[in-house]
Parts: sequence; C-alpha cells; structure tokens
Amino acid sequence: MKELSKIALAVEPSATMAIDTMFKQMKADGIDVIGFGAGEPDFATPDHIKAAGHAAIDNNDTRYTPSTGTVELRKAICQRLKEDCGVEYDFKQIAVSNGAKPCVYTALRALVNPGDEVILPSPYWVSYVEMIRMVGGVPVVVDASEAEDFKLTAEKLAAAITPKTKCMILNNPSNPTGMMYSRKELEAIAKVCVEADIYVISDEIYYSLVYDNEEFVSFAAISPEAKERTLLINGVSKAYAMTGWRIGYVAANAQVAKVIANYLSHSTGSPCAVSQKAAVEALSGPQDTVEQMRLAFERRRNYMVERMNSIEGVSCIKPHGAFYVMMNIEQLIGKELFGTTIHNADDFGQLFLKYGKVAVVPGTSFNAPNFVRWSYATSRTNIREGLDRLEKFLKGQAV
Ligand code: PMP
Repeated sequence: MKELSKIALAVEPSATMAIDTMFKQMKADGIDVIGFGAGEPDFATPDHIKAAGHAAIDNNDTRYTPSTGTVELRKAICQRLKEDCGVEYDFKQIAVSNGAKPCVYTALRALVNPGDEVILPSPYWVSYVEMIRMVGGVPVVVDASEAEDFKLTAEKLAAAITPKTKCMILNNPSNPTGMMYSRKELEAIAKVCVEADIYVISDEIYYSLVYDNEEFVSFAAISPEAKERTLLINGVSKAYAMTGWRIGYVAANAQVAKVIANYLSHSTGSPCAVSQKAAVEALSGPQDTVEQMRLAFERRRNYMVERMNSIEGVSCIKPHGAFYVMMNIEQLIGKELFGTTIHNADDFGQLFLKYGKVAVVPGTSFNAPNFVRWSYATSRTNIREGLDRLEKFLKGQAV
C-alpha cells in the first residue's frame, strides 16, 4: 500500500490520551475516580435554546443553508459582537462553521502558505500547534512563564517576528491557563502586529467567562488597524453550554472572509441547520443564563484556588477567565511518592490517578511540563472531594 500523507502522519495523537484511557478503564471497572479534564461546561443547554432547536426540526428547518451560515444567524452574531465586544461587522464578514475549532483551522488555511511562521504563545491549547502543522505552517512557540502570568509580552512577540511570520494565535481568556489580557497589554501587542503587518487569529471562545469584574477586551476592539488584521474566533459552545451543537464563527475583513467562505463551501458545506436556529435564540434571546453559569464558575474557581494554595507542595495563580486552573508542581519534581520518582507532569498525572483516584491533564501537552490543568467545569462536591484526595495523596496516603 502507498504511504499516507506526510502531513497527516505527522499529526500527533493527543498527549493526554494515556491518562484518559486509564481513567476510562478505571471507571469501567467500577472504581470511584473523579475527572477534572472537562473542556466543556457541565451545565445543560438552557431550555429556551433547546426549544428553538425542537421548533427548527418541527418547522422543517432541516436543509442546507448557505455554507457560511444563514443570514439570520450571521446578523445575530453581528449584533452580539456589537453589544458584548463593541466591534461592528457586516454579516458578510462572518463565516459560521461546525464549532470554533474548524474556524481556527480554516482561518489558518486562509492565511498560511507552506513554510510561513505562526507565532504561538505557550502554554497553548494543544490543537493550535497541530493545526499550524496541518496547514504546512511552522509553529514558533514563545514561552510565557507563571511569573509573567502566562501572558505573552509585546517585547517577546517583537523578538519572535521574522520576515516569514504571517500571523500569531492569541487565545484570550486562555485555555489552559485561564489568564486574560488587559486592554493595555493588548494595545502593546496590537502595536507590534500592526507595525510588522501580521494577522492575529484571536480565539475569544471564553470571553463570557470572566471573573472579578474584570473587563474583557476583544482584540478587534483595540483599533481599526488591529481589527483589519484580526480573524476573530468565537462561538456558542462555552457561553451557552452548547458544545455538542457545533456552532462557531470567524469574523474578519471582507477579503479574508471571502476566502474563508470559498474554502468552507468546498470543505465543510453548511453548518447544521437545526443548530443554527438554536444559536440564533442563544445569541438574541435572554442572556440571564450566561450570567448564572458565569457566577457558578466564579464560585468554584474561588474555592479551588484557595484550597490549592493551602495544600503544601503545590500552588496556583488566580486565573481571571475560562474554567481552568494551572497547578504548579515544581516542588514535587524529583520527589518520590508511592515508590516512584516524579520527573514531570506526566508522572504526576499517572501516579495521582492510580493512587489518588483523580484525573487531571498534565501540562506536557500544553508545553508546560511542571504544571497540571484542573478544569472546574464540574460539581462543587467533586471539586471538594478532588482536593481532599490531593491532600491525602501528597501525604503519601492512597485513596
Ligand atoms: N478554542 C479553545 C481555546 C478551546 O478550548 C476550545 C474547546 N476546548 C475550542 C476552541 C473549540 O470550541 P468548539 O467546541 O466550538 O469547536
């Protein structure tokens, strides 16, 4: 048989698979394990949105739509972007696809020629690095340390730019760190991007999950020059607990939007018609459930951060957005627990699952080998029990 595509063969399976397989096996064996790997809200999709989905089926809204989504949905997106982020787009500048993930991929497709460099701040969401490679781009990873609040500085960005740089990916608020950029920080980054004439794929999927009364600022809202270069990614998955409906979008300048539309018309076809109707209701209907979920996440975060920092051997900084906490395990590196030396987050993750009966995501896959990611998109009871187990585990007591 002939060799498969070199690009496809180079795509790495998720590094979190080992822990996930172990976790699922333990669950299947009836062992009481708790998972903190969730990348999606644990809430149900609000009822009024579900009702719009039901109605779409009953009304036979079940056919192909335009490949970039219905005009109704794209107009609803423009309205929400205006209200929530203060940015104005024409509906022709919006392309809807099957979740934010394919929007990031298509955005990269629209920009990147083979060999072009794409700047990626680290710790990063693991899919970005693979997607950059999938389009033939070269990821240029720029580390941001915990002391820097895991945020890329304008200086570091400027130093990473070469004549081959086409764009950067900014994820704000961030998965995995939960950190959020201030207006001032974004202004400094935008200045560098405009001067160097590079595009910014700004993934703002967690924009509604922001805490401590902090202000979320969209990259596109920084200046007209920044907006012109922004490919703004967002969607309904996280804000409205709609991960399975698969609706995300990209907003861009008219030329980029056209290229994206052409690409989508030949690749994904149109997004699910029923989900689009539900998304219209999510974006245009009452917004109070967004706030209810946000408040619940904020309470859970407060509890998790406080508890984690009271446990000897580990620590975390307080994230201002999304639903993740990066736990620092530097103090445990080189230490022995349950007869095994911990060299990195993978070792920690496997031991913690085996002896603590808790699954977390090792930072290795985010380019942060001394950290593990906890998601607090799970119940308060689970969070309390998970941290109780961490305490025991670190004292060398098996659960
Ligand atoms: N971007 C980031 C940063 C994410 O964490 C996720 C979900 N894990 C996505 C995009 C994907 O969103 P969607 O489900 O809408 O494809």
